[in-house]
Amino acid sequence: MATHGGSASGQENPITEEEQDSLYGAESGWVDARTSCDHLPSLSSDLAHIPTPDTHCNRCQHPNENWLCLCCKEVLCSRFVNKHMLQHYQQIHHSVALSYSDLSVWCFSCDAYLDAQVIPQLRPVYETAYLLKFGEAPPFRTV
Ligand SMILES: [Zn+2]
Ligand SMILES: [Zn+2]
Ligand SMILES: [Zn+2]
Repeated sequence: MATHGGSASGQENPITEEEQDSLYGAESGWVDARTSCDHLPSLSSDLAHIPTPDTHCNRCQHPNENWLCLCCKEVLCSRFVNKHMLQHYQQIHHSVALSYSDLSVWCFSCDAYLDAQVIPQLRPVYETAYLLKFGEAPPFRTV
């Protein structure tokens, strides 16, 4: 998880950033989630309408552990099932997917979780998925 900028060239003590990460990471519950990603422009322009979280994998019909591709809205199973979302990324390079298990967002290109509560392009679809899954809006929605 490389952060841009902030490389303190003149400093003698480069450990502070790691110490901060472990401090805040444990607190937030979104360990290592990035707050930016270069692959967001590839997201579908209509994420207001998405398949329901109980949709089966489009290829093997696996009923759970599925991911929603945020680029083309295909629902595919996780790398712990038949790896269909991973294959989807490898074949057509759709990078960003939302987990219907825990609503986390993963970028295959960044190889990292994305913080859907912070990134403006992801927050609406996170809220929509949360609403579909739990029947109510996510608790952080206070704006
Ligand atoms: Zn599958
Ligand atoms: Zn896709
Ligand atoms: Zn990315």
